[in-house]
Amino acid sequence: MSQVLPGDVPPVHDLLGIGFGPSNVAMAIALSEHNARVGGQEAITAHFFEQQPRFGWHRGMLIDDATMQVSFLKDLVTLRNPASEFSFLCYLQSKGRLIDFINHKNLFPLRVEFHDYLEWAAAKVDDMVSYGHEVVGVAPVVRDGAVEYLDVTVRSGEGLAVHRARNLVIGTGLRPLMPEGVERGDRVWHNSELLAKVDALEGTSPSRFVVVGAGQSAAENVAYLHRRFPEAEVCAVFSRYGYSPADDSSFANRIFDPEAVDQYFAAPEDVKRRLMDYHGNTNYSVVDIDLIDDLYGQMYREKVLGTERLRFLNVSRLTDVKETPDKVRATVTSLVTGEETALDADVVVFATGYSPADPIGLLGEVADGCLRDDEGRVRVERDYRIATEPDLRCGIYLQGGTEHTHGITSPLLSNTAIRVGEILDSVLGQGLESASGQARPVADEIGSTAR
Ligand SMILES: Cc1cc2nc3c(=O)[nH]c(=O)nc-3n(C[C@H](O)[C@H](O)[C@H](O)COP(=O)(O)OP(=O)(O)OC[C@H]3O[C@@H](n4cnc5c(N)ncnc54)[C@H](O)[C@@H]3O)c2cc1C
Repeated sequence: MSQVLPGDVPPVHDLLGIGFGPSNVAMAIALSEHNARVGGQEAITAHFFEQQPRFGWHRGMLIDDATMQVSFLKDLVTLRNPASEFSFLCYLQSKGRLIDFINHKNLFPLRVEFHDYLEWAAAKVDDMVSYGHEVVGVAPVVRDGAVEYLDVTVRSGEGLAVHRARNLVIGTGLRPLMPEGVERGDRVWHNSELLAKVDALEGTSPSRFVVVGAGQSAAENVAYLHRRFPEAEVCAVFSRYGYSPADDSSFANRIFDPEAVDQYFAAPEDVKRRLMDYHGNTNYSVVDIDLIDDLYGQMYREKVLGTERLRFLNVSRLTDVKETPDKVRATVTSLVTGEETALDADVVVFATGYSPADPIGLLGEVADGCLRDDEGRVRVERDYRIATEPDLRCGIYLQGGTEHTHGITSPLLSNTAIRVGEILDSVLGQGLESASGQARPVADEIGSTAR
């Protein structure tokens, strides 16, 4: 992309995307398939900005034996276009592993392998993305009293640049969540940093780890640290009695279906809440049953053999954490008796979840034109477009951050292929108009607009 400096009048893109994780990679693929189909004048001009220097999907948690929580058939394309050349199966074929994968009889690939697939797919559309480019702000471009375009300010090694769009697709993903008042440090980690930090411990003979949380990431951290550091004790701290299994049974799994999004969207608020309560255990604070069994088996073996280094401090809470240069002291309080246990550890890992990145935070004054519901949450239409005041005429679409409107699939991969197809249809269906009010070719570039 050519560099456009603040003050210059930038060319107008039909669509700009913020973030290039799986959601917006899938968006780019849907656009490139559309453009290849229609060609020339009807092609949509689009570009994406990603702050990371290269494609990366939760790299800090690419534990070598961790598997996907979703069928490989829910890849970036298959549910939308089973004939796509961007599918996981095409990836396998290109790597010469298709037959081996089939013989494996497994729907849930390693996360490392799925990452490689995502990277492969992202590379096929890399003319549409600028890596190492962080979007730092969005500003309205007003024409005849209406917001006609959005100016997206992007920071990179080359400084700041402004890019103009008719539509934005925000796919900025999740942010690691620490408990209130706890700061990350050299010995206090969020699980998202695990693999980036753990190598530095090699050769230091760590004697104890504390892992806080009872979800999938917490259990994976416990198993990984226990395996990697055979001399160290690993203490799992959580307020539950024990890990709860993820419900991945067939009927419950339908909550991730495209049709479930329709139903959730149409349901009254109390039904939405009930559905989340009933089926939260398909995704939240739950662990794969195989991993639960492995951990229990390990704990029992250690009991039999007499060297117990896997400990579970259940019905407990970590109430204090103090880092010193060579240790970290964790205070664990029993929720039953109130008794406090001090644990000196090499590292405390908080596997305390993620929250959606605030999509509205980036929008600056544009956010004033976005409508809210009674609870102050941003209103999102079925096509993932934020409901706006009539004079905000640009499309602002959300990939993620729509759990309150579209349900449990919002931050997940399950529905990504379908969702990007719906966003594409919405963008195509806008009946965009030129400055003179005439319908215009979608890919038309307008170079002179006033604020
Ligand atoms: C360890 C882990 C395992 C998971 N496994 C599964 C699974 O098996 N199945 C499943 O369905 N879901 C899983 N998830 C859920 C996860 O949210 C999705 O897999 C997926 O990451 C969603 O893709 P996304 O593109 O919406 O968000 P992300 O993958 O988070 O990507 C967002 C991207 O936006 C970039 N970005 C953010 N802000 C800016 C900005 N201002 N400017 C430029 N770039 C920006 C980020 O750098 C990032 O690359 C997992 C999550 C974690 C943490």
